[in-house]
Amino acid sequence: MPVTEKIELQDPTLLRDSLFIAGEWTPSSDDSRTVVTNPATGQVIAEVSMATAEDVQRAINFADSAFKSWAQMTAIARAKIMRNWFQLTLDNVEDLARILTSEQGKPLAEARAEIIYGAGFIEWYAEEGKRLYGETIPTNVVGRRLLTIRQPIGVTAAITPWNFPMAMIARKAGPALAAGCPMIIKPATDTPLSALAMAVLAERAGVPKGILSVIVGNPKIIGGKITSSSVIRALSFTGSTEVGKKLMADCAGTVKKVAMELGGNAPLIVFDDADIELAVNGVIASKFRNSGQTCVCANRILVQSSIHNEFIEALINAVAQLKVGNGLNDDTSQGPLINEMAIDKVHAHVEDALSGGGKLILGGKRASIGGTFYEPTIITNVNEDMLVSREETFGPLAGVIKFETEEEAIRIANATPFGLAAYFFTSDLGRTWRVGEALEAGVIGINTGLISYEGAPFGGIKESGVGREGSLHGIDEFLEIKYLCIDGLTEK
Ligand code: NAP
Repeated sequence: MPVTEKIELQDPTLLRDSLFIAGEWTPSSDDSRTVVTNPATGQVIAEVSMATAEDVQRAINFADSAFKSWAQMTAIARAKIMRNWFQLTLDNVEDLARILTSEQGKPLAEARAEIIYGAGFIEWYAEEGKRLYGETIPTNVVGRRLLTIRQPIGVTAAITPWNFPMAMIARKAGPALAAGCPMIIKPATDTPLSALAMAVLAERAGVPKGILSVIVGNPKIIGGKITSSSVIRALSFTGSTEVGKKLMADCAGTVKKVAMELGGNAPLIVFDDADIELAVNGVIASKFRNSGQTCVCANRILVQSSIHNEFIEALINAVAQLKVGNGLNDDTSQGPLINEMAIDKVHAHVEDALSGGGKLILGGKRASIGGTFYEPTIITNVNEDMLVSREETFGPLAGVIKFETEEEAIRIANATPFGLAAYFFTSDLGRTWRVGEALEAGVIGINTGLISYEGAPFGGIKESGVGREGSLHGIDEFLEIKYLCIDGLTEK
């Protein structure tokens, strides 16, 4: 299918449609291609090469041969290259944001914020790479000394989703490269252009051939090659829990280290002592950002009964101001959903809630502009049995559950197999600690709906994942601890 919509860029060379393997831009070995569309217009914006199993193997082989020299470089030398990459990313933020919005749909302001957020991981880990300290251990035997060093794990792979096409890559490639590991990246097939643009900038920054590869293609073929490869020693995956479980099982064959950032079902609790305006802002930020398509989106909004009506009124006012439209328009705050399946899922959750006694307050249908746009929606009178409470909606639907006591709120919040993010709003210091400690999630936002920062650890518990991204902990996913026991030392 020919390209029918051009992405206007200051630097058109950022837009690539081939694979990046062994430091070369190359079509796939059988010349197969996939079409990338703009979800806001349905127009074709690129036709990108689809890797074959042989292409994946070539990327693995080359990464393997490039590993040693990258690992042996000083962390200072690696950091210099990574800082170039960080700076080039910032220098190209406008173009990168246009590419991101065109393939993913989010408003340009959110796309810019994602690029800057993602770049932060490259910068942060460029520096952290210099601090990969080992330790000395007091000896247990005279004439013996004990110490540890931390070494790069080897060739690594990343499989990433479409909802944050740039940041989910930077969160993995930043620490992997800083640790001294090559990384092979498989971006989501719906949104490969941001990943390819990041590879252009990595190449310009001086990342050596084979240290970063981007292979677009059939997930089963690429996933199969990655999980079964004994060369690849770690897989970092962000995506659905269902696929994550399968990849974990498949990695068992080669006993790979896995880092899994999976689905969520975040509760957001508004207690009766909360600042209502702050809580409403928190819901807008955490529920409606990226049109509700983030893994940390508030999926269940719990409001204490005594402030329920006041809160809903304030929420209606705020949600009614959200403007649905093409993300490339300056005034848009709600872009399209990624595809028809996403629309169907949101609508199924709406219908299920309404048939179970939910009360429609706002929205509840496709937006009048057509396409894959859905009206920002509020439903009250939601209960725990409804789909919107049990499953990640991944769309602009705020389902509100009324509760009476703190104990009840905590019980409802924790009644899910997921445990990625949770939020609550309160002005009571004792409650801040009690609830913060009681909620079963890896990331807790207190009096805020925005929690992500490269210097803080991000990740889930229960079926939301294994491992952490960001902070001093995120680099551990790409390192091995080696214990050196030196004996035969003469004591004088
Ligand atoms: P997904 O369907 O699991 O896809 C994620 C990635 O896995 C894509 O690159 C996909 O490739 C690939 N994939 C799918 N099936 C595969 C297989 N059998 N083997 C190997 N790779 C496979 O998830 P999604 O729909 O893109 O993303 C939404 C989900 O991601 C939500 O559940 C969300 O909560 C979660 N998420 C979690 C975090 C976090 O940090 N915890 C962050 C963002 C998103 P194709 O694109 O080619 O299908």
